[in-house]
Amino acid sequence: MFLSEMKAGMRCRVARVGGEGALRQHFLDMGVIPGVEMELVKLAPMGDPMEFRIHGYELTLRVADAARIEAEAIEEKPDTEGGSGARGSGAESSHPGLGEGGKYHVKEGEDPLPEDAVLSFALVGNQNSGKTTLFNQLTGSNQHVGNFPGVTVDRKDGVIRRHPNTVVTDLPGIYSMSPYSAEELITRGFVLDEKPKGIINIVDATNIERNMYLTIQLMELDVPMVLALNMMDEVTGNGGSIRINEMENLLGIPVVPISASRNEGISELIDHAIHVARYQESPGRQDFCDKDEDGGAVHRCIHAVMHLIRDHADEAGLPIRFAASKVIEGDPLITEALKLDDNEKEMIEHIALQMEEERGLDRAAAMADMRYDFITRVCAATVVRPGESKEHQRSRKIDRILTGRFTALPAFIVIMGLVFFLTFHVIGRAFQDLIEAGVTALSGTVDQAFRAVNVAEWLRSLVVNGIFGGVGTVLSFLPIIVILFLFLSLLEDSGYMARVAFVMDKILRKIGLSGRSIVPMLIGFGCTVPGVMASRTLPSERDRRMTILLTPFMSCSAKLPIYAFFSQAFFPRYAALVMIGLYVLDILVGIGVAAVYRKAAFSGEAVPFVMELPNYRMPGVKNVARLLWDKAKDFLQRAFTIIFLASIVIWFLQNFDFMLRFGGDPENSILARAAGLIAPVFSPVGFGDWRLTTSLITGFLAKESVVSTVRVLIGSGAALSSLLTPASALSLLTFSSLYTPCVAAVSSIRRELGRKWALAVILIQCVVAWAAAFLIYRIALLFG
Ligand code: GDP
Ligand code: MG
Repeated sequence: MFLSEMKAGMRCRVARVGGEGALRQHFLDMGVIPGVEMELVKLAPMGDPMEFRIHGYELTLRVADAARIEAEAIEEKPDTEGGSGARGSGAESSHPGLGEGGKYHVKEGEDPLPEDAVLSFALVGNQNSGKTTLFNQLTGSNQHVGNFPGVTVDRKDGVIRRHPNTVVTDLPGIYSMSPYSAEELITRGFVLDEKPKGIINIVDATNIERNMYLTIQLMELDVPMVLALNMMDEVTGNGGSIRINEMENLLGIPVVPISASRNEGISELIDHAIHVARYQESPGRQDFCDKDEDGGAVHRCIHAVMHLIRDHADEAGLPIRFAASKVIEGDPLITEALKLDDNEKEMIEHIALQMEEERGLDRAAAMADMRYDFITRVCAATVVRPGESKEHQRSRKIDRILTGRFTALPAFIVIMGLVFFLTFHVIGRAFQDLIEAGVTALSGTVDQAFRAVNVAEWLRSLVVNGIFGGVGTVLSFLPIIVILFLFLSLLEDSGYMARVAFVMDKILRKIGLSGRSIVPMLIGFGCTVPGVMASRTLPSERDRRMTILLTPFMSCSAKLPIYAFFSQAFFPRYAALVMIGLYVLDILVGIGVAAVYRKAAFSGEAVPFVMELPNYRMPGVKNVARLLWDKAKDFLQRAFTIIFLASIVIWFLQNFDFMLRFGGDPENSILARAAGLIAPVFSPVGFGDWRLTTSLITGFLAKESVVSTVRVLIGSGAALSSLLTPASALSLLTFSSLYTPCVAAVSSIRRELGRKWALAVILIQCVVAWAAAFLIYRIALLFG
């Protein structure tokens, strides 16, 4: 039987894991290994993907992927939730005292790093393990956000509070150290190349087996390390406990129970981290294979390979155990770095083949199995697991509605509707009006003051019309963006976004994307800028690029005034219909463009949808506040750099003629002349007037200014009707809904994808918009 044939509620034991490459490694890393028990929780509303329970957590797999995994059904009831685990009194074992320090090595004769050496730490953990929360607790406000060199993955550095000689780097959330995802490579590269003095590994204690899979791979890196057991509040709250001392003995690294969101255990964690880093205590254990386990084949294989490659690993500066594991797993990057000769490669291949034969599993599965065996032993000895946790029960109840067969889509629509309604109409609008009023008042005051002291006319115009007009308008969007981010981060941190991806995956696959792309696209309806930024959460570079390029097709809220203005003027009775039509048209065109992108630039399938569905949790206030502050800062920075400059440039072009004379006839301004050159391009689509062209050009600065420019240059009454027919108005609407995103959006695309793509986006969007407008215009003419 294959996993894809299971029915909800059915349980099975995995027999064989098929698939290849990244997909298969994903399976294994997430714990889908031969012998493991899985239960089918449910199917997504559209029948794909599937949700399984495995190792005590929820995992999603697509039906097609599940069809690669063979399993046998099992009948008997599970004894307790989560399977393995120590039974017993559950008495809290006391935490080992600090300071006796050096528990895992003898301090004498060792020389600690000098007092003034900067201790650098890497913060590594699974997604949703509480990394962001812990990072914020550790660093407070001493953070620096940037990108990893060469990749646009967020990099956050911070100094640990009250320890000025430290720096901790937040690495992307990962599940394993395999070389298949950009995040995994970044983390690996960071630890191997930048050589932090220590690793802080954060582990979700409610999901300890899966989280520890990463832990023991990190330990192989031979870097001093502490284990932060997070979410201990939930573990103890449900009557579970973890025998910390025993776990420390079994792992050979300090283990510190913490609750990041409640700020418990953090200072202890810091002390331990600084201690191991200062004394450079390597993990006391890096050997996880048992020589008696399953005939010991894996153990013999690893140690034989370690012998063989020792000098190469030393030369390449790679930790030996890590290098051996990776060479056996066939990691191309590590194999290359080791510079093995053909003879040695052949011997390693031989050793691995021998192991596969004795073990009856292929090498990747055998290694994963060896790791999970070790973890199972550790957990059996140290983890007292309660029955089903309150949090899991709660999540199951919530999911009955939010991912339920008939309720999932309506719930999604209601939730998103509510978010947009609250953002744009209730809260955002109120703040926006407030800021607008403030800017207007300020600009009025400045205006008066300038007049009073007789400042030159051009300077007054520059400040009042150019800067206040341009930057002020954009500034008024700050509240909307911040509030939108507030809601979206609440949805994200609570765990709902993972469900949306789960529910929508099947639809998005049809255009070559995965369920996770839905998030940035949804945000794009509000504003393209945060939409593009949200694409950072996507796991594959291909999906991320494609999502960014499609986000501008989700009609942003700043285009609403354009839609409203022209449809009121030309189709007063069908205004709503026209507006809805434009939204739908944009999405359809986007789907068409996606199909082309997929053929031309982004062949291949979307990433496998092997994803964890975390329990629903209340997002931390501090996290959210921090995020909002970051977004606001980012936005303000942009408003006062790019948008500031662009406003000045447009103002200049609008007010000067080619003789650089200020304040002449608007028709002679540089902008009007330039627009006059471009205007004929729009004759075939029905609006080749320089004033309309000018409006569209200013729309590049901010979409809202299309309407304001039309108002200034043309007015709204008879003059407008004499310029446009209903057919050409439709064409103009179509064009303005699709043409280039505004500078802010383009600059965020440039930041994510580089200059070439940003220019391509401008070009592609304009061409597509022109073609669509042309079609609409001709069709409209046919129908009169
Ligand atoms: P990340 O994905 O690893 O960055 O995880 P986050 O820091 O975003 O945390 C994921 C979720 O877990 C958030 O809703 C947090 O509020 C919550 N969380 C983090 N730490 C704890 C904790 O110690 N206890 C509990 N109950 N929840 C926590
Ligand atoms: Mg996070």
